Amino acid sequence: MLANSLIELDRAHLIHPVSSYRGHEALGVRVLKSAKGATVTEASGRQLVDGFAGLWCVNAGYGHDSIVEAAARQMRELPYATAYFNLGSEPAIRLASELAERAPGNLNHVYFTLGGSDAVDSTIRFIRYYWNARGEPKRDQFISMEQGYHGSSVVGAGLTALPAFHAGFGIPFEWQHKIPSPYPYRNPVGEDGNAIIAASLAALKAKIEEIGPERVAAFYAEPIQGSGGVIVPPKGWIKAIRELCREYGILFIADEVITGFGRTGPLFACTDEDIVPDFMTTAKGLTSGYVPMGAVFMADHVYDVIADGAGNSAVGHGYTYSAHPVSAAVALEVLRLYEDGLLENGIKAGARLMAGLEGLSDHPLVGEVRGRGMLAAIELVVDKQKKTPLPASAMPARRVFDRAWDNGLIIRAFANGVLGYAPPLCCTDSDIDAIIERTRRTLDQTLDDPDVR
Ligand code: PMP
Repeated sequence: MLANSLIELDRAHLIHPVSSYRGHEALGVRVLKSAKGATVTEASGRQLVDGFAGLWCVNAGYGHDSIVEAAARQMRELPYATAYFNLGSEPAIRLASELAERAPGNLNHVYFTLGGSDAVDSTIRFIRYYWNARGEPKRDQFISMEQGYHGSSVVGAGLTALPAFHAGFGIPFEWQHKIPSPYPYRNPVGEDGNAIIAASLAALKAKIEEIGPERVAAFYAEPIQGSGGVIVPPKGWIKAIRELCREYGILFIADEVITGFGRTGPLFACTDEDIVPDFMTTAKGLTSGYVPMGAVFMADHVYDVIADGAGNSAVGHGYTYSAHPVSAAVALEVLRLYEDGLLENGIKAGARLMAGLEGLSDHPLVGEVRGRGMLAAIELVVDKQKKTPLPASAMPARRVFDRAWDNGLIIRAFANGVLGYAPPLCCTDSDIDAIIERTRRTLDQTLDDPDVR
């Protein structure tokens, strides 16, 4: 009864992100009520295993009292403090310091945002400011990758390469350029890692030369492309790309909004890849989704140019909620949890997840299983030899998503036939086993779908 009235209210008033508004009205909302660990409960009382940690963000899992307590304590003591006018709060200052201590290399300065999109947006502003301060105002061209995702702000959505984020919005802008994704499963140069790295380097070089090296401001990459379909570049790819940016004097931004905070194993994927970017953007796992927050990490040499460039003038970039004390208190507690066994459990659970998904490779619909740590995907095909994607009619991703849901499993079903997995790092063996078993059942049902044959 309650659920029915909520469905009506939702239909009438709530605009849902990245959805077909009319399609959503027809389907109606599925109301989630509560959650604990990796288990989510619908308003009807039915339970599901969350194989996607909300939206790749609830890394710590649901229902941690210590996180709730940290937020409540901070709300009671000081629910808000601006970071404008030389003001600050203890949790925000401590968090910046703890993060800088753990970040790769000289990423010693942290700018807090409300999420990933405004973290990316902030880097674009900082980068323009940086090049102006260096006396190179012509460096205003930005490069990112096909299949990349860098948020949904007006400018960030132009670095994003997903068609739905562009169509009808008049973006990307003419100063936003793309190079092909290092997508091993579907790459014109084949699956060999060295060949893919060489092709990416050649493509980036060609793009820089085409634009004019003196005009390129920055290159953006995700260590693993998330929303593009969990695309895992070959080992060594990001290091090679980072070096090429250095050779050309172009800033390199690692967008770790998904890969950060234990998703691939270590706290940051950059550490694993042995690189130090000029900026690193993070969000999601920073607070495990309990409250909104993102963090931009800025290297010393960039910070100094901006700081000296501004002199006594204000760098005019800020939000009311920059460095929010409640979000910072939550992030500090989440950070403590990561280091108190959560990262370790994520590595163990990630190995079980990958092994379990690999075990599905024999399924007729599974073209490829890929991933790292607790970030994984299955790419569905109808012909393994030819890598033929499922026909569009059979793969309204929605249908696979719905079957999984009915089987008690939340996953991401991308429109291109990729199933995405990003479970909470707190998953137990039985959570992981349920994810695998329910995935197999979903695949079997999909095989029976007459549209698939
Ligand atoms: N960058 C990447 C790599 C992301 O995956 C996302 C979100 N999925 C964003 C930026 C944007 O983050 P948000 O949705 O918090 O604005």
